[in-house]
Amino acid sequence: MSLRTIHLLGSPVLREVATPVGTVDSEIRQLVEDLFDTMRADDGIGLAANQVGIAQRVAVAEVSDEPSVILIDPVIVEREGKVKGEEGCLSIPDIFGDVERAQRVVVETTALEGERIRVEATDLRARVIQHEIDHLDGIIFLDHLSPLKRRMLMKKWKKSRKGMTGYLKQVSPVGAKG
Ligand code: ZN
Repeated sequence: MSLRTIHLLGSPVLREVATPVGTVDSEIRQLVEDLFDTMRADDGIGLAANQVGIAQRVAVAEVSDEPSVILIDPVIVEREGKVKGEEGCLSIPDIFGDVERAQRVVVETTALEGERIRVEATDLRARVIQHEIDHLDGIIFLDHLSPLKRRMLMKKWKKSRKGMTGYLKQVSPVGAKG
């Protein structure tokens, strides 16, 4: 198991449009494994490659009892309904806001074995998938809020960062937290 360093808001890679993966090789399979490990160690339910400093179209999602999702070159091919719900982000700790998302999505993605498959998701699982695909396009959830709300949360974020330098966060292994 290896944990990657998480990039926080302010790190330019979070604003990069990630490049397509194409063929899934051992490096990508390792990246997927590390994304799961890092996400779980940081108590997250989703993590995109941009967030660990790699601008490639790879992300993972895992919501409670539902099957985990591996996103490689994902494309949303169906969206249905609209629902507002609270979101946070491992790259913007302790900042939360309500974002409107599709209630149900069907996403086409490359599986680890290389074939294109379709995954259907609803509610929170659909929300996380949309949040992670946004990351691959350099979009963060704050971008979906009203300018006023966004300004307020950015102020709060900057305040929480006072005295801190850099935009990297080391994640501790599960169980190693005090
Ligand atoms: Zn995020």
